[in-house]
Amino acid sequence: MIPELRVLENSKRVLVTGAGGFIGHHLVSYLKERGYWVRGADLKYPEFAPTAADEFLILDLRRWEDCLTATADIDEVYALAADMGGMGFISSHHAQILHNNSLINLHTIEAAHQNGVSRYLYTSSACVYPEYLQTTTDVVPLKEEDAYPAEPQDAYGWEKLIAERLCTHYREDYGLETRIVRFHNIFGPLGTWDGGREKAPAALCRKIAAAKRDGSHEIEIWGDGEQTRSFCYISDCVTGLYKLMRSDYREPLNLGQDRMVSINELADIIANVADLQIGKRHVTGPQGVRGRNSDNSRLRQVLEWEPEVSLEQGLAVTYAWIEDKMSQQYATEARAA
Ligand code: NAD
Repeated sequence: MIPELRVLENSKRVLVTGAGGFIGHHLVSYLKERGYWVRGADLKYPEFAPTAADEFLILDLRRWEDCLTATADIDEVYALAADMGGMGFISSHHAQILHNNSLINLHTIEAAHQNGVSRYLYTSSACVYPEYLQTTTDVVPLKEEDAYPAEPQDAYGWEKLIAERLCTHYREDYGLETRIVRFHNIFGPLGTWDGGREKAPAALCRKIAAAKRDGSHEIEIWGDGEQTRSFCYISDCVTGLYKLMRSDYREPLNLGQDRMVSINELADIIANVADLQIGKRHVTGPQGVRGRNSDNSRLRQVLEWEPEVSLEQGLAVTYAWIEDKMSQQYATEARAA
């Protein structure tokens, strides 16, 4: 890039909604490293490390006035705010998710439009894909066009699908440049690892670290553990987000790894990282679709790039971080006792 262009690019004022959450927090750091002026907005500050944002506003983006405040004097929006969690949360809070996220999405994009934002990136999910294409463990990887005819499993997927269409229509009707990414299971440090909203990689890291500490060497897995997914490390996620925002591609795009593993295999990789032999107790629990993988053909074609960090590399960092958090928690509890 010619130096003058880089200066121009980096003088942009960017809003990251959901900047107190897992991906938003990492994205703020990534954008700051590239010289952007960044405003974060969220209901809460990041839980595990201070934000790198120039300005961080505590706002409730379900509220119209708060969305106007968040998007004022902003050139580009990365819209990540959502009421969400892992399978346990998503499968048991349909009304809350559909209500809260619809309000967030409707108000944030309209406020961005009214405030003259030029680009708007919306973070959708692989949960938009129809359940009927995900009924076996050896599922065919999902291409972007597979989203229709629509039949997402949960309200979370329906809400994401509607928000995707909202982006498309704001672009067509108002000229707002929109980008739409569909994440496939992002994981890494500084994400929720307990409390009920954590996703499978973090939950399994926590269970294995606990099994190591208490000497039980046994963990619980929801279902038979043969359900399959692909998992993408956080540094690849924020790189892909940034590349998509800078691209001229306007249709929904998968962002994930295309290496599919079962939940049992995921647990084995983490146990290996932890240097622990584990037994698995399969218990009843929400499992989501039977199999899911990302088809990355379009990602490679559009961004001339694809995620690079291996599952083993990413899990090594994530496990070490969660084990450390648990040690800190045990130490605090011991002091309090
Ligand atoms: P996260 O839960 O860590 O972050 C979401 C943030 O949104 C939270 O900090 C939350 O406080 C904030 N938020 C919720 N309601 C709000 C409101 N009313 N006003 C302001 N802020 C509010 O989740 P994440 O993993 O960082 O996900 C970011 C985005 O990516 C979400 O839109 C999510 O649906 C999407 N996504 C994530 C994954 C994944 O694997 N992590 C997969 C698919 C899609």
